[in-house]
Amino acid sequence: MIKLIVLDVDGTLTDGNRLISTSAIKYIRKGIDKNVTFSLISGNVVPVMFALQTFIGINGPVFAENGGILLYKNQIKKFFDKTRAEKFLEYISKKSSVKPVFTNMWRETSIAFNMDDSDENYVSGEAEKNGLSIVNSRFTWHLMDKNQNKAYAVNYMKDQFELNYDEILVVGDSDNDVPMFNLNVNRACPANATATIKSKSDYVSKHRYGNEMEDVLNHYGIL
Ligand code: CA
Repeated sequence: MIKLIVLDVDGTLTDGNRLISTSAIKYIRKGIDKNVTFSLISGNVVPVMFALQTFIGINGPVFAENGGILLYKNQIKKFFDKTRAEKFLEYISKKSSVKPVFTNMWRETSIAFNMDDSDENYVSGEAEKNGLSIVNSRFTWHLMDKNQNKAYAVNYMKDQFELNYDEILVVGDSDNDVPMFNLNVNRACPANATATIKSKSDYVSKHRYGNEMEDVLNHYGIL
């Protein structure tokens, strides 16, 4: 039986223009009425996750910065630090097309940036040398500790709620969801997911951009 559903936000609850699916909101609330715990994990920042949690009515923990920081019951828990990422950003912006994005003012455990596609391998290699990793959420690049990812956040909740992996369902659409799709949990994705995420999914919905929520929840017998 599924007790915890972990959702990515961009591309999973929203469309390519980042507009949230009202159908997704409706079916998340129906799932909450069935006493399932819902969690969001995004590359976005705490203030944005706070707003999503509040206005959608999410009943479980929400994680910002790809799992680096948690907000639950009006308390914040920080698992990683951005000092090393900030130093690296200063270094790499002089040597590549890397440009920080404005949401960094709210980031506490990572850095977000844009860069030319041709710099990907170089920047990734340099980050690795510094114990950091970069991941693309399709909307922006994220720079953070090499152990900071969505699997870290899912494992944290597994321990906190004393769950087995088979009681957890994750839904996501892109590369920064891969770590949680590599866990032995239930995995579902919308039709707009990347080929990698589709190949790792137990269930691929025909519906896209948040409209898969009804279908996915039905598939797992939640509704
Ligand atoms: Ca996404």
